[in-house]
Amino acid sequence: MRTANRMANLPPYLFAEIDRKKEAKVAQGIDVISLGIGDPDMPTPNNVIDAMAQAIRNPANHRYPSYSGAKRYRDACAQWMRNRFDVDLDANTEVLALIGSKEGIAHLFPAFVDQGEYTLVPGCGYPVYHTGGILVGGLSHFMPMTEENDFLADFESTPADVLAKAKMMFISYPNNPTSAIATDEYFDRAIAFAREHDLLLIHDNAYSEIGFDGYRPPSIMQRPGARDVAIELFSCSKAYNMTGWRVAFACGNSEAIKALGTVKSNIDSGIFTAVQDAAIEAMLGPQDIVNTMSDLYQRRRDLVVDALAGIGIIARKPKGTIYVWARVPEGYDSAGFATKLLDEANVIVAAGTAYGPSGEGYIRISLATPDDRISEAIERIKNTL
Ligand SMILES: *Cc1c(COP(=O)(O)O)cnc(C)c1O
Repeated sequence: MRTANRMANLPPYLFAEIDRKKEAKVAQGIDVISLGIGDPDMPTPNNVIDAMAQAIRNPANHRYPSYSGAKRYRDACAQWMRNRFDVDLDANTEVLALIGSKEGIAHLFPAFVDQGEYTLVPGCGYPVYHTGGILVGGLSHFMPMTEENDFLADFESTPADVLAKAKMMFISYPNNPTSAIATDEYFDRAIAFAREHDLLLIHDNAYSEIGFDGYRPPSIMQRPGARDVAIELFSCSKAYNMTGWRVAFACGNSEAIKALGTVKSNIDSGIFTAVQDAAIEAMLGPQDIVNTMSDLYQRRRDLVVDALAGIGIIARKPKGTIYVWARVPEGYDSAGFATKLLDEANVIVAAGTAYGPSGEGYIRISLATPDDRISEAIERIKNTL
């Protein structure tokens, strides 16, 4: 058999070599600490688990789910947007249930991008913004993200010939992997730019609930004109420690919501309705988890950034996300430094280049690791330098 040509265009899995080395070490009984994974280490809150236990016994939940999400789920998403951001959305036309935001990102491509057309993609970001395009024969333009532009993806420098063939633009703040945050002014410029060039603007707000030092990440839907050109993606994954549950939603521009829903109705059959009921409890039940988790990650952030500073590795103190984005020391590139840490310290970090060209010169350290393991990892890194 022969796979499609587009399969060969997918980038090689950047962690393959690291995974191989890790497995070899573990087989030898070596204790490897991973600071590479973007997956909360704490469990889903009990109120959500209890809601699931009840919902799973409801026979109506055992049948095919609604394609667009149960009405009560979409209502809850709209209510959550009202509670959290004071944004009013029509649950019927401006909200769509997603089986995780990754699914939504990937399915936007068949809805919006034809062969040879461009998507404007953050210079470093969630890999599916790029690979989702490859799978439909689309092209990516990586928008530069640098320390100088505070890692706010520079769409204004996009060449005219790319813009003429561009259909979508992804941005995401608080940002994975750089942990940068956006200003209102940046959102406003992105909205104006999308309008001027007839682009669908997608704001991936996966870390909306993880803010530090009193910072609460905003929604782009709070900005004037956003729903004319933009949709926003929210997920229970990082907000409520629910990565395994696969439940999220898209909201905003009704035309885009409809197009994405049409693609999805030809591919999947919605989210298990009991999971939607559990997500309703997560979004509308007690919200203490949000502060508890932000406090926990903030403490780990301080632990990591201060310890790194002590060994000469420079990292800004982030205002959100579960990552610290650190400069690699002089004389190394991202992959080289990540490899050295694995070889010599038995510590896994993510090389910045795994997220795109703007990631060169950086590593990403995940805070979704128990404190004692973080401390041990930093100690080991110190001893190898
Ligand atoms: C984790 C993550 C996602 C995927 O979230 P799911 O809802 O679990 O699919 C999407 N975007 C970013 C930036 C992420 O970090």
